[in-house]
Amino acid sequence: MTSRIIALANQKGGVGKTTSAVNLAAALSEQGHRVLVIDLDPQGNASTALGVDHRVGVAGSYEILIDGLSMHEAIEKCPEIPTIEVVPATIDLAGAEIELVSTVAREYRLARAVETYLDNADLDFVLIDCPPSLGLLTLNALVAAQEVLIPIQCEYYALEGLGQLLKTVELVRAHLNPKLTVSAILLTMFDSRTRLSGQVAEEVRAHFGAAVLPTPIPRAVRLSEAPSYGQTVLTYDPNSVAAQSYRSAAQELAELAPKGVA
Ligand code: ADP
Ligand code: MG
Repeated sequence: MTSRIIALANQKGGVGKTTSAVNLAAALSEQGHRVLVIDLDPQGNASTALGVDHRVGVAGSYEILIDGLSMHEAIEKCPEIPTIEVVPATIDLAGAEIELVSTVAREYRLARAVETYLDNADLDFVLIDCPPSLGLLTLNALVAAQEVLIPIQCEYYALEGLGQLLKTVELVRAHLNPKLTVSAILLTMFDSRTRLSGQVAEEVRAHFGAAVLPTPIPRAVRLSEAPSYGQTVLTYDPNSVAAQSYRSAAQELAELAPKGVA
């Protein structure tokens, strides 16, 4: 059984990495796939949205990276959607960025843990929610993954900083993980009423072509409300446009033959 391991990365904060990680996970699971979400952001927003405890003291990605804890000891089930497994992130993870610097095989810690776990787990997708930086946490995600999904917010400066991200992916591929490709771009916070959103989408499509998932995710209040109920929008408001969009995007992602654009 081969699992697709996808890192959701963009060093910009607030572009929809976490929202996309949890809602794509929910949609993929609804479509019959077995999904694991690894929360790699000290904020633990993905853990919150999936209703999983991530208070200090809970075993999670920090212990996996720093103490070498095995994944199965840190995995929780999402209460609303039990077919989703979650590795939570506690605020301890904020220290990991520095602590990893002096750790042996510091770029490979997550990759090793994921590999070992997948030897005995039947999973279709592993989604890794990255923090908003290109430090050692994101690096661990890029070394563990085969694919990068980049959420791009349909706003001003959408493409700013993207060069740096693509260069990082390039470096990781050259030196640490030859399998890595940017397989998907997801347009987020698309506002069909503004010309700007359309322009950004056009520019992104011109640049990345077929890697851009056809369905953009609209700007929708429901998406920002759901996490405060420990839910994804798929359970919080299953018939909303936002839920439908993530379902379509998940299907497009699942059908994608990952070739990579960068
Ligand atoms: P990141 O993980 O990249 O920092 P988030 O997914 O946390 O970004 O999104 C940033 C903020 O924007 C959050 O408050 C989230 O609820 C909100 N948000 C994300 N996507 C949308 C959307 N499509 N429409 C409206 N709000 C959104
Ligand atoms: Mg986030």
